Amino acid sequence: MEKTIAAISTPNGQGGMGVIRISGEGALETADKIFRSVSGKKVSEMKGYTASFGQITDSGEVIDDAVVLVFRAPHSYTGEDVAEISCHGGMYITKRVLRAVLNNGASPAHAGEFTKRAFLNGKMGLTEAESVMDIISAGGKQSARAALSSLKGRLHDRIDNVREVLLSLAAHLSAWADYPEDEIPEIDNEELMTGLTKCKNELNELLKTYDAGKVMREGVDTVIAGRPNVGKSTLMNLLSGCERSIVTNIPGTTRDIIEETVMLGDVPLRLSDTAGIHSTDDPVESIGVQRAKDRLLSAGLIFAVFDASMPLSEDDLELLELLKNAPAVAVINKSDLESKTDIDFIRSKVSHSVLISAKTGEGADALAAEVGEIVGTSGLDASQGILATERQYSDAASALRSVEEAIDALNMGITYDAVTVVIEDAINSLLELTGERVTEAVVDKVFSHFCVGK
Ligand code: GDP
Repeated sequence: MEKTIAAISTPNGQGGMGVIRISGEGALETADKIFRSVSGKKVSEMKGYTASFGQITDSGEVIDDAVVLVFRAPHSYTGEDVAEISCHGGMYITKRVLRAVLNNGASPAHAGEFTKRAFLNGKMGLTEAESVMDIISAGGKQSARAALSSLKGRLHDRIDNVREVLLSLAAHLSAWADYPEDEIPEIDNEELMTGLTKCKNELNELLKTYDAGKVMREGVDTVIAGRPNVGKSTLMNLLSGCERSIVTNIPGTTRDIIEETVMLGDVPLRLSDTAGIHSTDDPVESIGVQRAKDRLLSAGLIFAVFDASMPLSEDDLELLELLKNAPAVAVINKSDLESKTDIDFIRSKVSHSVLISAKTGEGADALAAEVGEIVGTSGLDASQGILATERQYSDAASALRSVEEAIDALNMGITYDAVTVVIEDAINSLLELTGERVTEAVVDKVFSHFCVGK
């Protein structure tokens, strides 16, 4: 029998409500030992999906008023009997209620143990379980949508579709190899190739979703570069929605690298507003200039800011040269003033550019659209299920490698048994991805990334 586990499921801090979750065969009996309902009904006598109001007590001491919600196996998150105690939020009360629960027969839940039980009890696949953590940590609409669609099984379905095709090819190949004298239609090489190519394309599409999904979850290091006074600080303030850096019209005022995370469209940007890139004799300033260049070269995204109201300077030209092949948007700022710069020249050097006014906010949407293009989030349909973890990516990548091997083997005229073996490797990788055939060590690793209480 699995032991009964309990944990606080709400965040560790002050809040309107706190929830203590108990799961396992003894969950309802444990709740009975500490809960006195106003109606007099015992928790273990309550039906699933019902609630009861009363008091939590421990060794005769009344701790709090609470509502107990009952879920009966298998109709609960974990698939086991579950009691959820909703009490007042706050670190003392929730911990005190948890202690009462632990004093009365439950053990503390490990990180992710509720969801791990849900997986082991067949309530969800491994990709669905992984998406639970992504939902909790989602910082934007797209990443939340992607995680929710995976929880609903969209990713699992996509993988199953590929697996189905591979299974039917493998089954046909083995039947033909094992019973050559029977009436099994001969393998049509072209059909085999069509099936494998379809799987290859779909796996490639899936793998592409990983980078975009990662950007949406983790954000991208973004440097705002440009010579002094083009409006870098103003742009940063526009994006962060508050006065963050010092804006003055004296060139070179922003010496320090200021970091801040902002959401631009669906993409979290870790912005740093750097000293301008320009020649200077001032030793302090030149350190800032060098740091700006270093950061520029390592950034995931660059906003190279130019002043539309002035002709391009030497510093601007130097910056444009640095941007070659970099993930950069030329932000041609001060569009509210009369244009005096050579926009066509900038566009000939940088493939993504926008005309904006950091002062009025005009053009900010276009900037978000360009960023989506560069980091790959714009073409992503988050509702289709995306690869969200390194584990998922690596399993999908090894399935793709096997499919490609099968295609090569076919092209080279290698025997069908050899082709069958690599197709089976691909199937195994996909079974591991969805958790149908996975080692305990992998499962433990997946849930070790979870928080306690989930
Ligand atoms: P930085 O040195 O690149 O950080 O530039 P700042 O953000 O400090 O801006 C320099 C000057 O340009 C300030 O006086 C800003 O008010 C002004 N400025 C910045 N953006 C715009 C804009 O879009 N339009 C206009 N008209 N002025 C701007």
